Amino acid sequence: MQFQNSLSFAQSLDAADALAPYRGQFYFPQHNDRDVIYFCGNSLGLQPKNVAAAIEIELATWRNLAIEGYFKGPHPWLHYHEFLRGSLAQIVGAKPEEITVMNALTVNLHLMMLSFYQPTAQRYKIIMEAGAFPSDQYAIETQVKHHGFRPDDAIIEIAPRPGEKLISQEDILTAIEANSTSLAMVVFGGINYYTGQLFNIEAITAAAHKAGAIAGWDLAHVTGNVPTQLHQWNVDFAVWCSYKYLNAGPGAAAGVFVHEHYAQQTQLPRLAGWWGNDESTRFKMEKGFFAKPNASGWNLSTTPVFNMVALKASLQLFDAAGMQNLRNKSMLLTNFLAYLLEPLQKNIFSIITPDNEAERGAQLCLFFTKKGRAVYEALLANGIVVDYREPGVIRIAPTPLYCSFTDVYECVQIMQQVLQNTGEE
Ligand SMILES: *Cc1c(COP(=O)(O)O)cnc(C)c1O
Repeated sequence: MQFQNSLSFAQSLDAADALAPYRGQFYFPQHNDRDVIYFCGNSLGLQPKNVAAAIEIELATWRNLAIEGYFKGPHPWLHYHEFLRGSLAQIVGAKPEEITVMNALTVNLHLMMLSFYQPTAQRYKIIMEAGAFPSDQYAIETQVKHHGFRPDDAIIEIAPRPGEKLISQEDILTAIEANSTSLAMVVFGGINYYTGQLFNIEAITAAAHKAGAIAGWDLAHVTGNVPTQLHQWNVDFAVWCSYKYLNAGPGAAAGVFVHEHYAQQTQLPRLAGWWGNDESTRFKMEKGFFAKPNASGWNLSTTPVFNMVALKASLQLFDAAGMQNLRNKSMLLTNFLAYLLEPLQKNIFSIITPDNEAERGAQLCLFFTKKGRAVYEALLANGIVVDYREPGVIRIAPTPLYCSFTDVYECVQIMQQVLQNTGEE
């Protein structure tokens, strides 16, 4: 599309946007008596307006039915996590049996690695991205140590080439092939949180398999942002959180994908708990764990219903909007943002996120050699919620469910003033 740098053009894009009404389904923090421009859905999604009523339904079930709520009421709690599988399966491209919801992201990464990282003296190495999200680094480092290996020997980090910010796909594939006799696993973040780079999940997964390794993905920045086909791409496992693009609120229960090929293997090693046991024998309270033959076989504890209610409410919006429709709008929104930012860049900042829309999601990352933090603070003071990550990066993520083209236009207008005021223009 040929963009124009004007308010009326932004307004015409909003007028033509079939998803525009979804904005009305969310609460916005207020700044000077008007909605903030919220570009932080990559960190914490806004609260959908249907959440409070959904919580009240479960409060009423608890109030009126108490223990019976596990079997009766509108959404019997015994199966509550299963009510989320259908929508999540649509969003990530999976079968419902390949999806479960439990715990939080980092916990689930550990649980999945416990099942899928079975190192031997010969095959024990893990390939991951350099500059991965710290929690992922800690998880992988401690897993390796737990098995008695040295992180500096067992972990191979793929870094950008000298002077570059993005990781070359070719370098990833080359490293996988070069380590094919010792490689146990490839674990990547689907989108790097700092650069916004979207990796080719299908190609990297295929390369890992060719090398005889497992491919696991952290999709924290992908799920609800970019549609995937995890089943078709033969991803072995994936984990994600629910509070970023999925809008399920702080600390909401997190999602897991286990490919059916493994999900059906009830003998696969795992740390077990009673919620992963088949319901038919669960309440016999006997010895001997019988895993469910699906991703729920990894659930351990009683479903934390109140940590899932907001996710269920939010997923109704995803069902109605459609993940591919959201992605189509998202590409247009982010491309429009990139177009408007272009004339502002000069020597002040550079967009380090890939130019190609197929290699990024909603988020653009602006790298400032100096004054990044001052610009970030000035944006906040002007009612534009973005975030800042050391060193030097302001992340701007217009999410398609509740951000508009006019938001994007206004943000860049204010940014221009801010750059003038901070002496960057
Ligand atoms: C947000 C994020 C996390 C956070 O993990 P929690 O266990 O939910 O705190 C981990 N990894 C990545 C890549 C993330 O983007």
